[in-house]
Amino acid sequence: MNILILGSGGREHTLAWKIAQSSKTDTLYVAPGNAGTNAIATNLSLDVNDFEAIKTHVLQYCIDMVIVGPEDPLVNGIHDFFLRDKVLSKVLVVGPQKLAATLEGSKEFAKQFMMRHNIPTAAYQSFTADNLEEGYAFLESLTPPYVLKADGLAAGKGVLILNDLQEAKLELRTMLLDKKFGAASNTVVIEEFLDGIELSCFVLTDGESYKILPEAKDYKRIGEGDTGLNTGGMGAISPVPFAQGEFMRKVEEHIVRPTVEGLKKDAIPYVGFIFIGLIKVNGEPKVIEYNVRMGDPETEVVIPRIKNDLVEVLESLRTKNLQSISLEVDHRAAATVMTVSGGYPEAYAKGKEIIGLDTIKEAIVFHAGTKQDNNKVRTNGGRVIAVTAYGDSIAQALEVSYRNTKQFCFEGMYYRSDIGFDL
Ligand code: ATP
Repeated sequence: MNILILGSGGREHTLAWKIAQSSKTDTLYVAPGNAGTNAIATNLSLDVNDFEAIKTHVLQYCIDMVIVGPEDPLVNGIHDFFLRDKVLSKVLVVGPQKLAATLEGSKEFAKQFMMRHNIPTAAYQSFTADNLEEGYAFLESLTPPYVLKADGLAAGKGVLILNDLQEAKLELRTMLLDKKFGAASNTVVIEEFLDGIELSCFVLTDGESYKILPEAKDYKRIGEGDTGLNTGGMGAISPVPFAQGEFMRKVEEHIVRPTVEGLKKDAIPYVGFIFIGLIKVNGEPKVIEYNVRMGDPETEVVIPRIKNDLVEVLESLRTKNLQSISLEVDHRAAATVMTVSGGYPEAYAKGKEIIGLDTIKEAIVFHAGTKQDNNKVRTNGGRVIAVTAYGDSIAQALEVSYRNTKQFCFEGMYYRSDIGFDL
């Protein structure tokens, strides 16, 4: 089977690492990929949103399966594009169609979906420029902190959490009238603040049945103690100690099953991964957000804990036969530490040589923003290398991951030394 993975981050390198291990894989392509995928697959220089170019390559290389890593092509309708074409419609696309991708592309759509299917989430109301005054009144009815969310995709920056009522009103105005996040903030969702601890739940579905993959917790902020600016994610661990037994039973019963059944009831086809951002409030799970793809860096700990042949699992989606798969999860814990370019998530330099990667023996090196430059590997993004390790406990996995992270370097390299600090 010939397989194409779209994307260029640590998530895509991890998926490629897993898929390259399958005896069912003939040729593996990654577009555009990075230096890590270059070592185990064929990188194709393609823009993930250039569907015509993707089509040409899929036909040229007789690709049977396309796994869509990031959300953008899904929200832009790549799956629908394949279904519209007589030949391409035979290709298995792992990732939902545009309508389902709206669960990530529009927070209002996601909230309405959750309300319709009684899925626990924060109370909310949404507002446009036409009812700004009502938005002010709604803010006045709430107690701080105030949670304001741009409805559309805003590169992870569209959520504001503010303590001051006047500031919240001003931001609401700026989002709606001055289009602070462009068209993404034409509608703003104002939510009740939920006070709890967050985790990520991953589900694979063929639209009929589902499998819950290992859960994970990521660390979003740049600074120690989860302080400072938000990033794409500085590390992750799996399993999550505070999300076991009864709590996960509630997650399945109140959230995962109603989500998959809700999609069916609403006639929203869905084939692919669902990432459910959860928060545990007084022992109860609530949904913060849906994403229609795997998370990064959570993938770097979730996928290594799955023992099955991933190609076999994904192939079952084609015939809606996922229920026949018995998911085998590694009992060991996994942890990943993300190294980033100095200055990230603000301005940072690219092109720095990375030295020492080949000395790492006890951990798995997943490349994110890297680039092959003849026989050298250079930095090519904010997040650069994720170092994943297994252990009998999370603490042990972290220790191995940190020990191996110290074995390579590049100018300006930074990583958080406290991943898992709060467990
Ligand atoms: P990301 O791109 O990081 O996934 P996003 O921009 O899609 O995020 P959300 O996931 O909805 O937006 O919110 C971002 C973060 O804001 C959450 O991870 C959570 O920490 C916080 N947050 C969102 N909603 C609430 C809420 N109702 N109560 C408390 N915190 C919240």
